[in-house]
Amino acid sequence: MPYKSIDKAKSNYDVIVIGSGLGGLTVSNRLARAGHSVLLLEHHHQPGGLATWFKRKGHIFDISLHGFPYGMVKTCRKYWNQAIKDSIVQLKNIVFDNPQFSLKTTFDRHDFSAILRDKFAINQAVIDNFFNTVSGMNFYDDQSMTTRELFDKFFPGRSDVHRLLMEPITYANGSTLDEPAITYGIVFSNFMNKGVFTFQGGTDRLIGMMVDEIEKNGVTVCLNSKVERIVVEKGKVKGVACAGERIISAPAVISNSGITNTIYNLAGTDVFPEDFIQQADQIKINNSSCQVYLGIKKGESFADVGDLLFTSRAPEFDSNELLDMHTSSKTFSIYYPRTRPDNSDYTVVASMNARYEDWAGLDKKDYHKAKEDLINRSVDDLERYIPGIREKCDWLEAATPKTFNRYTLHTRGTSFGTKFEGLNISRSIFKVLPGLFHVGSVGIIMSGWLGAINYGVIVANDVDAFLRS
Ligand SMILES: Cc1cc2nc3c(=O)[nH]c(=O)nc-3n(C[C@H](O)[C@H](O)[C@H](O)COP(=O)(O)OP(=O)(O)OC[C@H]3O[C@@H](n4cnc5c(N)ncnc54)[C@H](O)[C@@H]3O)c2cc1C
Repeated sequence: MPYKSIDKAKSNYDVIVIGSGLGGLTVSNRLARAGHSVLLLEHHHQPGGLATWFKRKGHIFDISLHGFPYGMVKTCRKYWNQAIKDSIVQLKNIVFDNPQFSLKTTFDRHDFSAILRDKFAINQAVIDNFFNTVSGMNFYDDQSMTTRELFDKFFPGRSDVHRLLMEPITYANGSTLDEPAITYGIVFSNFMNKGVFTFQGGTDRLIGMMVDEIEKNGVTVCLNSKVERIVVEKGKVKGVACAGERIISAPAVISNSGITNTIYNLAGTDVFPEDFIQQADQIKINNSSCQVYLGIKKGESFADVGDLLFTSRAPEFDSNELLDMHTSSKTFSIYYPRTRPDNSDYTVVASMNARYEDWAGLDKKDYHKAKEDLINRSVDDLERYIPGIREKCDWLEAATPKTFNRYTLHTRGTSFGTKFEGLNISRSIFKVLPGLFHVGSVGIIMSGWLGAINYGVIVANDVDAFLRS
């Protein structure tokens, strides 16, 4: 069991990890398995970061368990354990409903090709060429082409096709049509590999299994343990300072806090070279989210309407409309009793992209009113798919960008870290400040459950090499 405070931690370790998101948990696990002593410090009272859940009136609500690509199967088997891998199951009914089209799909290449050919009348050779192009994209590619240019090249003038291809990815990583095409291509082809998957038993079960595994491998986990500062002396990392100025020493510190938090708040700009800070100043923060949680009374049920519903009343795909406080575009994640076989519960989570600025500036009264309105709009929208849902609910609650900021400390409550330029800063931080590493959502590619875990493995290799050198 994780400690409820930092009091039980020793005074020095090989590695200190700040934050227990999926990246922080994975890097801790890999390094402990490689024989290093690891301390994991988490400011919240629950591990998992954005991979989290909360309980109300007997319901368990998942925050970020909406869907991930098949790649999680291999990643969890290789870097976590067989039991975690064995609980990954496919979501087969993905629904789109908007003024341009309504359809149901398994969200994989085979089904998407058939839909593009039969429903959208796109030539098969164009479809094949498009899929081959995006699946051939990788990290080191030319980044000058934008997603808009990519779509215009293959499907000129087809805003309906652009919407089908883009809308789910915008929900998955906050990317827009004007960002490098690889931020779209890598994530889209990951999903197209075999479809959308989830974790049976819910986020609470997954994080519980991960914490059991890291503790078995010797990691010390302390919750309610906020790191106030990364200690740097003579150009090298020496450890961290926690509340009450308690210093814990380590030659390597890995921050799973956001990259901007890490540089500007935890380390401080004066410990980095000037040109590095100039580059860091260019980092753009990704958008945040709003969510509405609906708990269905025990004994109530409804027919299967699909697992993920991408719904919108906007005439066309529009990144700004998706971010608007009053957006009509939302994803409904429907959790049937099969999600948690031990708990015969139905819950629904409505997710929307959102801007921190729109919510942070409201006074208390307006903020509560805006949350109430958000809940009402979401329930009204869901009524179109599940008539009578309002009467079946015994819990309604909303989260806003301020909520995400409060629980994770992320700059402007970002849901997906930073835009593309954050990646290079995250990857090079240990080269300018020996001993300081970063793991966490950057560059869009390293975000999401799969991206965060895989990034944890990459950073663990860097840290292992550093500690052995
Ligand atoms: C609403 C929403 C829905 C999402 N849906 C999906 C989805 O369906 N599929 C998917 O794959 N991804 C989804 N994501 C994204 C995914 O959850 C994240 O990309 C991933 O969990 C981030 O992991 P991370 O390692 O970057 O760390 P984070 O989860 O960001 O965790 C960072 C941790 O560091 C801690 N911390 C920060 N500063 C300090 C400090 N000073 N001291 C101690 N601790 C600190 C925080 O408390 C937090 O626990 C969603 C995200 C959101 C917000």
